[in-house]
Amino acid sequence: VEFQHCGFPATLGGNLKKAGYEAPTPVQMQMVPVGLSGRDVIASADTGSGKTVAFLLPVVIRALEKTSAGPASPSALILTPTRELAIQIERQAKELVMGLANMRTALLVGGMPLPSQLHRLKSTIKIAIATPGRLLEILKQKAVQLDKVKVVVVDEADTMLKMGFQQQVLEVLEHVPEERQTLLTSATIPEGTEQLAGRLTREPVRVTI
Ligand code: AMP
Repeated sequence: VEFQHCGFPATLGGNLKKAGYEAPTPVQMQMVPVGLSGRDVIASADTGSGKTVAFLLPVVIRALEKTSAGPASPSALILTPTRELAIQIERQAKELVMGLANMRTALLVGGMPLPSQLHRLKSTIKIAIATPGRLLEILKQKAVQLDKVKVVVVDEADTMLKMGFQQQVLEVLEHVPEERQTLLTSATIPEGTEQLAGRLTREPVRVTI
């Protein structure tokens, strides 16, 4: 299988090629079609597996179909536990959406200045990439709305738990409509992670590599 033959929009196909991604990794091969079908996914996949592109491809393709809801109202939300992961995810997202219209991203993470993040939200953004604490802070200021979010990614759910972010993740998701798609990744899925995954997803498809 090669990305070229997957029937993606030409610009996206070109961006994959430019990034040096010729063929999907195993987790991408399993997760992208299920993600595109609109179903929830629980994927056990670690860093290095290509999990980021595995959730970004369905997010980007599904976001292309949606008209932008306007300023501060993303249609996709990616939650990740650390600033470093968020920065990497945004970098890969930008690679994929280069040249595509109305696909702006916003990085909403702690440990970086809040004013520039609030400023970014004054424009129309499609994909928000956030850590839970900073996103809650911005939600409390009513500087972002999550009621138009159609797809949520919870990245590294096991790390979220280890870092004590479970309550914050649940609180953030109270702002997202229940009628949504949820894609969850986790390196391993011990009991606690399984329980959280069960609360966040509906009839999920399991992806294991
Ligand atoms: P991740 O598991 O998401 O942390 O990704 C690990 C690395 O694999 C990243 O540096 C990606 O740029 C790279 N990568 C992701 N998908 C592919 C692919 N299909 N072919 C080659 N490299 C990839």
